[in-house]
Amino acid sequence: MSETIFTKIINKEIPADVVYEDDLCLAFRDINPQAPVHILIIPKKNMPRLNDAGEADEGLLGHLMLAAHKVAAREGVADAFRLVLNNGAAAGQEIFHMHFHLLAGRSFAWPPG
Ligand code: 5GP
Repeated sequence: MSETIFTKIINKEIPADVVYEDDLCLAFRDINPQAPVHILIIPKKNMPRLNDAGEADEGLLGHLMLAAHKVAAREGVADAFRLVLNNGAAAGQEIFHMHFHLLAGRSFAWPPG
């Protein structure tokens, strides 16, 4: 599978503002934030899109959700945040290493644009 810029961030080949890291995932601030808090939560495992995940990834996907909650708590936004996952180019995915966007610190419209 091809590497992305996120693989380079995982491998510390390029810098990122990391706010959380454990054995399975990494969370760092988005370089082009769309809200006062905008953090990307990514698996260290190379998985281009959510729909590349299989049954064996069930635990990892749950881990990412719990990591999002931990990060939100650390950022002081656990009461109100939005978690977004763009799966596929037509859904807005630009980096093909699966990631959640954790957004907080402002009001959000629904439906999203
Ligand atoms: P996507 O559109 O794939 O769901 O989201 C990719 C996100 O990665 C975008 O919000 C973009 O600003 C962010 N991004 C792209 N390149 C970098 C980078 O080199 N460093 C960081 N921290 N964020 C990046």
